[in-house]
Amino acid sequence: MIKKPIVAGNWKMFKTPQEGYDFVETTSDLLLNVIGVKVIFCPPFTALFHINQVLKDTPHSLGAQNVHFESSGAFTGEISVDMLQACGVEYAIIGHSERRHVFGESDEWINKKVHAALAGNLYPILCIGEKLDERQQNVTTEILTRQLKAGLKGVSAVQMESIVIAYEPVWAIGTGLTASVAQASEAHLVVRRVLSELYAEKIAADTAILYGGSVKPDNASALIKAPGVDGFLIGGASLKTDSFVAIADEVMKNYVKE
Ligand code: PEP
Repeated sequence: MIKKPIVAGNWKMFKTPQEGYDFVETTSDLLLNVIGVKVIFCPPFTALFHINQVLKDTPHSLGAQNVHFESSGAFTGEISVDMLQACGVEYAIIGHSERRHVFGESDEWINKKVHAALAGNLYPILCIGEKLDERQQNVTTEILTRQLKAGLKGVSAVQMESIVIAYEPVWAIGTGLTASVAQASEAHLVVRRVLSELYAEKIAADTAILYGGSVKPDNASALIKAPGVDGFLIGGASLKTDSFVAIADEVMKNYVKE
């Protein structure tokens, strides 16, 4: 079972390998004061190998922002599970809203990626979330249910021990808009109810469900106290040492395991 709470930083397409290496050297040291929180750095592919040289002697983990489902072949621009593993990667973000909505990834592809990651012993961080118009049309529950069922199709109860879910409302990613505590909590409850129906109550309770969407040091303590929130997937605020460490610190101080 994956330990909670979790704080994962998704750097997106920011930082050169050298910038990333320097950042992780400084940040990982400061994070040693943050006890009991699993910290995951998700840099661009080009920085993974060298950042692992820093992280391998720390309790922190390395994650990738994407992975392809085929193991090798003529897939220009893609990267395989084995290649990530050889760089020390343990986690893979799958189905991030930018992959879904900018690069057109389908639920079917996302499901194939989840299976490929599991087969290669990577922990998938499966991202789901509704767009603004979907929230306004009151279909958030339906969207989250569809994305969860499709993304987890064929995943066994035992394999669920290796899955992290990230609820990221698309309208809150990179916009400065954050879900309210009530909105985050309600969505996390929906996720737990679906997992409970698909698997079992215990599996739903044990699964780490992260919130993502403009998390910052000043909203982290309220959001981590929201019932059902087991940590954060952080974009913008994970790029600066001060804000990333401050958020991890808030999680350490305020997370209450239910
Ligand atoms: C993300 O990229 O997953 C994300 C949540 O970004 P931000 O924190 O910048 O909204």
